Amino acid sequence: MSDVFKGSFTQQEPIPEAAIAAAVEVMRSGRLHRYNTAEGEMAQTALLEQEFAAMVGSKYCLAVASGGYAMATALRAVGVKPGDKVLTNTFTLAPVPGAIAAVGAVPVFVGVTENLVIDLDDLRAKADQADVLLLSHMRGHLADMEALMAICDAAGVTVIEDCAHTMGAAWKGVPSGTQGKVGCYSCQTYKHVNSGEGGLFVTDDAEVAARAIILSGSYMLYARHAAGPPPEAFAKIRYETPNISGRMDNLRAAILRPQLQDLQTQCERWNARYYEIEKGLRDTPGLRVIERPEEETIVGSSIQFLLLDWGETKVAEVLARCAARGVELKWFGGAEPVGFTSRYDSWRYVDAPRMPASDRVLGGIIDMRVPLTFSLEDCALIARIIRAEVSAVYQAAA
Ligand SMILES: *Cc1c(COP(=O)(O)O)cnc(C)c1O
Repeated sequence: MSDVFKGSFTQQEPIPEAAIAAAVEVMRSGRLHRYNTAEGEMAQTALLEQEFAAMVGSKYCLAVASGGYAMATALRAVGVKPGDKVLTNTFTLAPVPGAIAAVGAVPVFVGVTENLVIDLDDLRAKADQADVLLLSHMRGHLADMEALMAICDAAGVTVIEDCAHTMGAAWKGVPSGTQGKVGCYSCQTYKHVNSGEGGLFVTDDAEVAARAIILSGSYMLYARHAAGPPPEAFAKIRYETPNISGRMDNLRAAILRPQLQDLQTQCERWNARYYEIEKGLRDTPGLRVIERPEEETIVGSSIQFLLLDWGETKVAEVLARCAARGVELKWFGGAEPVGFTSRYDSWRYVDAPRMPASDRVLGGIIDMRVPLTFSLEDCALIARIIRAEVSAVYQAAA
């Protein structure tokens, strides 16, 4: 009888005890709203913003209700208007084109390479179509950020980074989210820190930060932002910026602060698991691992590999055989959106032309979560199962 994996691909670790204690303290105080502070008290949310800004080396930080909210706020704050086009990745998750649609703008998809990053040639070719790129570091894969910024700077394109999968990652040592005008992070349960829902927004631009703070629902209490710009930055924009409530509360911030302290360690634990799986998959006939560039500091909270040009039937067979042995794989090539996975032609509110080169890559991307509740032995077992099932289907076809 062949091995079966019994773990859960959606089970995260518990919230650390220090975070639970901090949450209980906030609840005892009754002051959950970020602007409800006692005399001389600094809100948990303001402290979180200060600590996250220091961690990534940004001037300003704003904590909000979700990663998707952070992205929509970033688009508004840099001046995207209804009807504007916004460049974005063809390989990403639904909240990314959703953030563009939320501000009434129109996504223009840029292709994906076999290394699962945005296709810089396609970006160069489309750079004159929009003033903004919402760049999704999908599943943690960072494009050559220097080359990307050079293309965007030359074309006058403002870059907003979706760092939902790159909190803790870096390109040549520069923290992900600090190369573009704005970096947006998610604190949702399946990302790198867990407050159920939540988002973080960083920028070095005082006016963009001021707009984002007012947009998030600060009323005229913006002076209480420890990681916000000086009052002058609000002088004019406070009259012309709508309040679109999406604040973070002190309870979530309290849960997140101890997790930020642990982030580095957690990233190392993810990477140990990632490389264990990668090691087990390497040199499987017909399967391609994604080679990670030396310049990239990765966070292996998920892993992808390619079954390039296998065709729908054989990919489906691999998925079914792995599922029968407890290994839950996701496929970006499916014609129908399933669970969290969909692709650009599933978002039918966008009139997107077909992208054959990207279709070929998307058709081969297999994706798997790597929760920290997996042991290294679990990871080795998972890799053995995938290797065996991919090999069986590959050999049967040969
Ligand atoms: C989760 C996710 C988001 C959005 O984050 P939420 O906090 O769920 O709104 C954005 N982009 C990607 C790639 C994601 O995976």
